[in-house]
Order: sequence, then C-alpha cells, then structure tokens
Amino acid sequence: MPRPTGRLMATYRDQGIVLRSYKLGETDRIIHLLTQGRGKVRAVAKGIRRPGSRFGGRLEAYSHVDLQLYEGRNLDIVNQAELIAPHAAVRTDYARSACASVMAEFTDLVAQEGERDNALFLQLRAGLQALEAEPEDPSVFVDAFLLRAASIVGFHVFTSACAICRAPGSHAFLSVRAGGTLCPDCAPPGTRAVDPAVIEAVALLARPGDWAALPGLARDGGEVRRTAASYARAFVEHHLDRTFRAYEAVPRP
Ligand SMILES: [Zn+2]
Repeated sequence: MPRPTGRLMATYRDQGIVLRSYKLGETDRIIHLLTQGRGKVRAVAKGIRRPGSRFGGRLEAYSHVDLQLYEGRNLDIVNQAELIAPHAAVRTDYARSACASVMAEFTDLVAQEGERDNALFLQLRAGLQALEAEPEDPSVFVDAFLLRAASIVGFHVFTSACAICRAPGSHAFLSVRAGGTLCPDCAPPGTRAVDPAVIEAVALLARPGDWAALPGLARDGGEVRRTAASYARAFVEHHLDRTFRAYEAVPRP
C-alpha cells in the first residue's frame, strides 16, 4: 500500500484551559489555550460563531477542556472539544470574572508556545477552582495567583531571607525592585521598616499550594491585606514589565 501523502495533517490530544479568544473572519474564532502538554497553543475553532456550532459553549473563557487538534503551520485547528470543567460560575459573576481575567491575562503573557509547563497549568486550574467555589472575597486569590505564578516563571518573592545577600531570617524591609525582604545592611538608607504582619501576609500569598488559608487573610487582613495586595501587584508588574489591564476591574473590600 502506498503511504498517503500530501494534505494529511497530524492530530494530537491534550487538555487545555481557554485563556482568551477573538473573532476571525465571519464565523471562526482564534482561541488561546494553556495546554498541559504543549504550553500555550493558539488554535482556530472553525464555525464556532455559527448557530448550532458543534463546539456549543465548550470553548468559552476559563473552560477546562479535553481537546483534539490538527497541527497547523502557524495556528492549530480545534477538531473536538469536550468539557472537563466549564467554570461557568466564574464567567457569570462580575467579581470572579474580573479575577479570572487577570489570571488568564497573566498566563497568556508568560506561557510559551511549545514549552510544557505543568506547574503553571496546575496553578491556573487551582486558581480557577478557588474562584469557582464562591469565595467571599475573590480578590485575595488573584493576589496569591500572581505571586505564585510569577515564582513558577522565575520571579520569586523572598520573604524568609534577604533578597540581595540571602541572609536568612525575617527582615523588616520590603522592596519591589529587589524582589522581597531586605536585611538592614542591604536596605537603602531611609527605607522604612514595614509591619511584620504585612510580610507574613505576602509570604502567605506567595506560598505554593496554600489556598485554604487565603479566605482568613481576606477576612481579617484590613490594612495589612491591602498593603500586601499592593505589593503583590507592584512586584509582578515591575518584574514582568507589564501592567495588567484587568487588575483595576477586580472589586476590593
Ligand atoms: Zn542583605
């Protein structure tokens, strides 16, 4: 038997989370996904804007889907999409949708095409699951997600050592630019010490995997929580050299 030649396209399966999508032509959309196996994938969903499209509502933002795709030269093509978790509540609630939008914007910025990053994938999934669970104050999950995901992609905030000389311990100075706490020797003259509770709050926000303690911080935090949140935003925006547009839309107590 002669081997088929020419137009046969390779297919692959993967799980992905929809980060964003935009219109293409009359009836298609380009979907940005963070996949578990291939990093960021940009793919065309053909006919998705036609009534009765075979994709239904399965490729909405934040949906976690099982996918079959054709490999393309620039853009892949979605052949099938099955829902694993729709995260529908995240889309319908304003506050949670704003939070998810920051998470997706961050991920879309840092995820690399063709580079598997399972830690980032699991982080985004955990962040969306936390929002889906109807937290009283979802904004605390955005702050935690930003610091934790930044650490995964190489920007780690120091809270139990000096960010410059690495002297261990709880230090009283906090720097956005240096990347965390500073010891008295490394802190620039005139730097004011911060409330140790702020540093504890930043450490909690940054601690990988600890989502259960966040609602407590949101409830009891007050000024400490607000300062830690401002620090998280400034840290991430400084080190990634990017302003997150969706951040301003996140309602805060
Ligand atoms: Zn130092």
